[in-house]
Amino acid sequence: MCRDPARSSGPVLPKMIAGRSRREERPIPHAARRTPQAPRAVFLAPHYDDVALSCGGTVAALADAGARPLIVTVFGGEPAGDELTDFARWQHQRWGTAAGSDTLATRRAEDQAAAAILGAGTRRLDHFDAIYRGDRYRSDEALFGPLAADELPLVERIAAEILALPELADAADATLYVPLALGNHVDHQLAYAAGRRIAAQAGAGKIGPRVLAYEDFPYAAQHPAALPERLAALAGEVGAAEIVGIGGTLERRIAAIVAYRSQLAVIFRFTDDWPATVARAAREVGGGEPAERFWPLTTGAESAILPA
Ligand SMILES: [Zn+2]
Repeated sequence: MCRDPARSSGPVLPKMIAGRSRREERPIPHAARRTPQAPRAVFLAPHYDDVALSCGGTVAALADAGARPLIVTVFGGEPAGDELTDFARWQHQRWGTAAGSDTLATRRAEDQAAAAILGAGTRRLDHFDAIYRGDRYRSDEALFGPLAADELPLVERIAAEILALPELADAADATLYVPLALGNHVDHQLAYAAGRRIAAQAGAGKIGPRVLAYEDFPYAAQHPAALPERLAALAGEVGAAEIVGIGGTLERRIAAIVAYRSQLAVIFRFTDDWPATVARAAREVGGGEPAERFWPLTTGAESAILPA
């Protein structure tokens, strides 16, 4: 049954016991779990599939609670087909899509299908995916390497566009979810940095949404060392993890991921049974019960990890 979000009260997300490492996490008693609720929940997806992959269970739970979650794809712009680099063309071949416009049309149709399964609205910003931003990132190594210094102005622009969304008009009552940027993909770094900027502004006395960072999937499952390394790099920028039980919505997260057909073979090239990988990782997060986790961004501090 859907509840009126205007009448909802109480904490947005149940909190985990602070300071526990992944291995030490204990199962969360059912009594401590609540259906997550938020008057406005806006999820930043660097790319079309990132939110479904990483925290689709929470999106679906919020939708069930009447919170009208919104997924905003940041790098959803469409490049002209004749401007593609060889690297971008190679990526399209991996995805089994053809010219630039066909690729974007396919990915947007997949996105709509996934959002419908999760019960979320969608928006997209028209920034180009890194593979379409000229010659800066022309290999997988470059895509997961340092951010090009001349792209720093993008952080401010993306942050301003997010804050201008009508869904964040009542920002003091809203929650913004951004990627933690595990795996270091440059577009994920930019989306995290935009969230960092918004959290910093809130700390400077302006009203802003609460900002939480989600665990980028499947990077987290593929490279277990990535999480502690990233958290160490972000010391002072994020607080203790908060855990959301997704026992009732894990299947919808998996169904939404299935909707991104063009991406599955590339994303899950490290596993023969990716739904089992998703379910196992979710159970590890919740200490037995499926869960997803989020790190609140501290307010006030500017990012220490961006290039000077
Ligand atoms: Zn991504």
